Order: sequence, then structure tokens, then C-alpha cells
Amino acid sequence: MADDQNVALPAMKSSASSNPLTRRQFLNQTTAGFAAAAVVGPALFPATSQAAESTQKMIGIQVGSVSFVDEGTEQVLDTLQERGAVNTIFLTTFTYGRGLGGRQIPGQPFPDHGRQQSDEMMFHGGNYAIPHPEFYRNTVLKDTRATDHGDLDIIATVLPGAKRRRLKLYCSIEDVFRSDVPGVKEVAEVDLQGRRTSTLCLFHPAVRAFWTGLATDLCESYEIDGILFFNERNGPLLNALGASHAQSIASSRVTCFCEFHQKAARERGINFERAGEGYTKLDRFVQSALAGKRPGDGYFVEFWRALVEYPEIVLWDRLFDEGKHQVLTEVKAAVKAVRRDLEVGFHIEHVNSFNPIFRATRRYDDLARKADFLKVVVYNNCGGERYAHFIRNIGSTVFRDVPHDELLRFNNHLLNYESEGSLADLPTAGLSTDYVARETRRALEGVQGKCRILPGIDIGIPTGKESRKASPEDSYAAVAAALKAGAHGVILSRKYSEMRLANLAAAGRAVRDAGA
Ligand SMILES: [Zn+2]
Repeated sequence: MADDQNVALPAMKSSASSNPLTRRQFLNQTTAGFAAAAVVGPALFPATSQAAESTQKMIGIQVGSVSFVDEGTEQVLDTLQERGAVNTIFLTTFTYGRGLGGRQIPGQPFPDHGRQQSDEMMFHGGNYAIPHPEFYRNTVLKDTRATDHGDLDIIATVLPGAKRRRLKLYCSIEDVFRSDVPGVKEVAEVDLQGRRTSTLCLFHPAVRAFWTGLATDLCESYEIDGILFFNERNGPLLNALGASHAQSIASSRVTCFCEFHQKAARERGINFERAGEGYTKLDRFVQSALAGKRPGDGYFVEFWRALVEYPEIVLWDRLFDEGKHQVLTEVKAAVKAVRRDLEVGFHIEHVNSFNPIFRATRRYDDLARKADFLKVVVYNNCGGERYAHFIRNIGSTVFRDVPHDELLRFNNHLLNYESEGSLADLPTAGLSTDYVARETRRALEGVQGKCRILPGIDIGIPTGKESRKASPEDSYAAVAAALKAGAHGVILSRKYSEMRLANLAAAGRAVRDAGA
């Protein structure tokens, strides 16, 4: 499970602080620039579209269909523009996931707008626009129309109001499927034991045809400005290690070994049987580590030995990434084939900023060639508990010999983080706005001007019961930090249906203050 795909993490137990930076001090630091703006309420900041435009930055927000249905299209667009200083809508058009789609996720308090009733029983997901069959001839994934809102076509519903307000509209599409969607079973990944999963194999021709078909359909059928593509799936190495912030460790179901993967492996000279053996060995290592059975040479050495003896583990992981990036490349080509000025952006998941092993597999200069803009996740509020979760995950396998607090400090050095909370404090402290600024600058330096960087900003992303809830001051500070660091704009995340209006308004004030 991943950043924008899902859900609340289990509540982390907060304990006494061992960190010199208390939450209050942290707040004082991050809110220094906020105080002046805070004395004037949102009502005194009327929509000044000139102010937003004068920044020349893309101020986007992710919003799903249910918000327009619940609150009314015009009403929502007015709110986003007036309060959030938004000039670009990232409309959730395709997903079966709850991170981008639906109302507030179950178990979390509703924000102060929208229907205050769980949609758990009604939420289905799929394509919230109208799929046109001619674009899906080469795929078995033909029946993806979302049924949540009857015959509603969400793009046709939102587009006229957006155009009238001169808002740009991009369609968000996400690689999250349900296993009961017709065709998924035929094209899903096949694990080492030959079982089908519910995630699509990225080397299956019918899957490739689906994504290019969907992108082409949206761009041909509607006057949109582009596509934002989400795919948060990790490669098998990270899956095997549970080296993400938001997944359980399931090393035996790590990746695809289907016929198309085998063919792709042969073409690249990768030994399929050796890869299978390597992942079996890695699985045994992970299971033993989780059970606390320390290898004679220690956990890290045993892990590294598996990589040395089975370099196919890394090669198979690279193969996954290649498949994932090939889909991105093909989606971009499909979109540009419709019209050169249509844009394609990619969502870069949170794990990219937590995990040095993942970070090593992503080059911003390479990603820059594949996209017009990158939405780089820098969610700092929920980032605290997510980062703590990651440290505990990696600290229960590869680095099990290292006390978690020391591992956290070590990892902070590797990632160029400064002044973040202790492991116990992270969930209640969140990550700092300095983290937002550093990750924004790293992305800007990485792409070397070859594409735009739009940090994804945490506007009240759900957290565990005891974890920090984003205040308006947090939202203001995060937006201000990203813009000050030189970002080409921001994308308010994850979805309007989980944001409180005061947080949205604070983000809008930060935008206007930065443009002033
Ligand atoms: Zn496959």
C-alpha cells in the first residue's frame, strides 16, 4: 500500500520526548511567517485571481468526483479558487483506490464540508468519465466504468465551470485496481508460487494497451490540459524487505514471474531461475529476521551476501522499474500524439524521500525526460508517522542489529534531513518544513530545468489517532516553504474531501503571500 493509494497507518504510541525540539518549539519555528497572515481571516481575503496568476505558478489541488456530487460543481470550484488560490484542478478520473477517490476514509473525522456520511458501502472506483470502446480494443480491461454516481461523466460535469474560471484541468489516473474487475485476473502479476495477484503486470501487452488507451481516450474525448499518472508500486526488492512506510512485509509475494516477465528477462540476459532462487533466499532471510533468528554474521551481512550471491535480485528489481517507466514513457507518447501541448506529469511517491535504497533507483534527470512535470511527494505532517514506520520496517530486517533510534539518526544523515524528531516523537511532531524545502531543492537540482517540479503538499492527510493533525499553520508553512525553495507550483494533496477549509485557506494565503 502506498502514499496516495490508501489509508491510515496504525496509531503510533507517543512517548516522552528525548528530542530537544519539542512540538511547541517546532510550531514556533514553522509559524514565524504565519502570524501576520493568521490575524486576518479567510473572509477578508477575497478571491483575487490576478494575485494567483501573478505568481505564474501552477497551484493545483487533487479532487475526486464525490466532492462535486456532494457539494455542487460550482460551489466546489468557487471554494477551491477563493480559499485555496487554486488555478489547476487535478481531477481524479481513474482509480479504484481510496487515497484519491471517495469521501474521507473510514475511521477518520469528516472535514467541515461535504456529506458527513461514510461512502464505504457505495465506493466502487474505476473510470469516472465515459470510456469510449474504440480506445480499448487491444486490452481485456474494457469494463472499468465507475458506477458510484450512476451515469455521471465527471469530466463533462466539471470542465465547463473550470473553463469559465480559466482553471486548468488535468485528469489524475492511478494504477490501483480491484481484483474483481473483469480482465484483471488475466493480466495480473503471477508470484513465485504461480498465484495471481490483483496488481497488473506492467509487461503484459494488454496492460500497456490499457494505459495508453485510457490516456488517449481522455485526451481525445475531452478538452483537458493533460494527465497526472500515479503508480506507487514498489519493485520486488523493496516489497521483499517491507522497506516502505506503508506496507506489511510479504516477501513471498514480491513480484511478477509471468511469461512476459520471463521473456523480458531473457531479452536482457537475466537468468529467470536464478532470480527466483534469489528471491526465495531473500524471503527466507526476511522471515527469519522477522522471527528474530539472528544469522551468525548478523542481519546486514546476510542480506548483503544474498545480493552478492544473487545479483539477479537487483536485476529483477530493475526489470520491474523498467516496466513501470516504460508505461510512463508510452503514456507520454500517447498523450503527445493527441496534441503536443497536452502535458503529462508523474506522481513521485513518498518512499522516494524516506528510503535511500529506493532513492538510489530514481534519477531526477532521467525522470525529467519522461514528464513535463513531476509531483514530488513532500507530505510533512503525515510524513512523521510514515517515516517512523519505515524505520521500524527496515529496522526489523536488514538493520535489525541497529537500535531504531540510532538507525533513524544514521538515516537522517543519509537523506540530508536535519532537526527532525526522535522515533518516539515523529508521529506527533511530523516532519519539518525544512524537509519540504530540502526535498523540493533536491528535485529542482536533480531535473536541471528539464521539467517542472510541483511538490505535493500535505493538507490534512489522515494520520493515526495519536499522531499529529495538520493545523492551518502547518499547511501555510509547507506551501510557503515549497514556493520559497523555488518550486514551479504546488499540488495540494491528497484530496479535497479530506481537507478542512481552514487548512485550504491557509494554503491559499501562503500562495498569495508568496506572489505579493
Ligand atoms: Zn509479469
